[in-house]
Amino acid sequence: MTLYLYDTYTRSLREFTPLNPAPAGEKPEVGLYTCGPTVYDYAHIGNLRTYIFEDVLRRVLEFNGYRVNHVMNITDVGHLTSDADEGEDKMEKGARRLGKTAWDIAEFFAGAFRQDLARLNILEPTIWCKATDHIPEQIEFIRCIEEKGYTYRTSDGIYFDTSKLPNYGYLARLDIEGLQAGARIEMGEKRHPTDFALWKFSPPGQKRQMEWDSPWGVGFPGWHIECSAMSAKYLCTYFDIHCGGEDHISVHHSNEIAQTEACYGTRLANFWMHGHFLQLDDAKMAKSSGEFLRLDTLIERGYDPLAYRFFCLSAHYRSKLNFHWDSLDGAATSLDRLRSNVYEWGEPGEPDQDYVEKFTAQVNDDLNMPRALAVTWDLVKSDLPAAVKKATILVFDQVLGLRLAEWKPVDEPIPDEILALVEQRQAARREKRWSEADALRDQVIAAGYEIEDTPEGPRVRHRKQLQSS
Ligand code: AMP
Ligand code: ZN
Repeated sequence: MTLYLYDTYTRSLREFTPLNPAPAGEKPEVGLYTCGPTVYDYAHIGNLRTYIFEDVLRRVLEFNGYRVNHVMNITDVGHLTSDADEGEDKMEKGARRLGKTAWDIAEFFAGAFRQDLARLNILEPTIWCKATDHIPEQIEFIRCIEEKGYTYRTSDGIYFDTSKLPNYGYLARLDIEGLQAGARIEMGEKRHPTDFALWKFSPPGQKRQMEWDSPWGVGFPGWHIECSAMSAKYLCTYFDIHCGGEDHISVHHSNEIAQTEACYGTRLANFWMHGHFLQLDDAKMAKSSGEFLRLDTLIERGYDPLAYRFFCLSAHYRSKLNFHWDSLDGAATSLDRLRSNVYEWGEPGEPDQDYVEKFTAQVNDDLNMPRALAVTWDLVKSDLPAAVKKATILVFDQVLGLRLAEWKPVDEPIPDEILALVEQRQAARREKRWSEADALRDQVIAAGYEIEDTPEGPRVRHRKQLQSS
């Protein structure tokens, strides 16, 4: 079945075909590069929405019979507090805040990130690559751009002259003339507002924790060059799909494209895909704002991480998604219901091909996961034999990634005090004391239990039952 993906570069749905033909007797390979985290802090649940979208993409490609060579970078140097190449390196600032070295916090937060991915059942990339492990490759890349005549030197670094690239900013449909005319921002010695640093010099008289020698002087690479250099090394200078969050379109990805076009004269990636932001109470969630929700925050409140994955699957990756605790509760309950159904179906038989086709049609329509979930619920409600349903849903789970085969209910009695709270809640509901009933329900949830109201009365379960064993 044909796979369609939305390509930000052309602003259109395009049929996906891999750039390279399959080697004889092997599956065709797809090169996928996803911009990874800047490891100066934990990932917030907004970041994780983007990684869940990218995981679904990877799984859908594999579902379609491709072998995916998935590269993810770890930004551990060069990402400054302002995308306009001003301010401090986020890593050095983070290290000072925590009283550790930049190297230590990079190690620590990269580990925490990998743990988050594992908890969300996000497949590990084929290749992880750290910016600090690829300094020579980045220097070589900058040298190539310099040789082609796209750079200039200022007192604080080597910059890319974006005016020399005729279609600079096409990905973001940037209005270059408008930007130039309206440039009120402090440009320093930059010649154009969209020019960006390829190499920054260590500030005079200061020794940075992370700095290297280079043909231009001691310093560190700009943020964008790592992705051009590492994708060229591990994939190719022109590869299949490049992804990130929507904020990357106007600066980071526009600059990656400029670097690769300047050095190699190629387009960098055949498809550009971007996940929309998770909003928190309608405000953009930003790691740099300090206060943010982590996966651990959700776990501390008794949620299964996969309930967050399920919550993200309920919205298309190109639509806005607002985070509310109520919606997460809804996702946790739905996931729980799905899991208990699947468990009760017993051993799998043969999958139902009509349902597999319906599901494939939705995931191949630019990863339409809300519709794919609707097909999943249709299957649950269908009158197919349990063994067929079980086998079919396990096929779906290759894309959903909800670990449906592993889940088992926990046989632990519900403590008397929880049953008492549930009984008090029933009494409050009977007497229409709704806010009291809600408060009692919240107490039950906070204690690690879940109430499902059924026609036969409330069903109480341990939240551990929501977690895969
Ligand atoms: P960072 O660690 O800041 O480099 O961001 C890691 C990834 O998360 C990037 O792909 C960003 O585009 C993405 N991202 C940042 N904030 C959000 C958000 N609120 N919702 C979804 N994705 C985000
Ligand atoms: Zn990148």
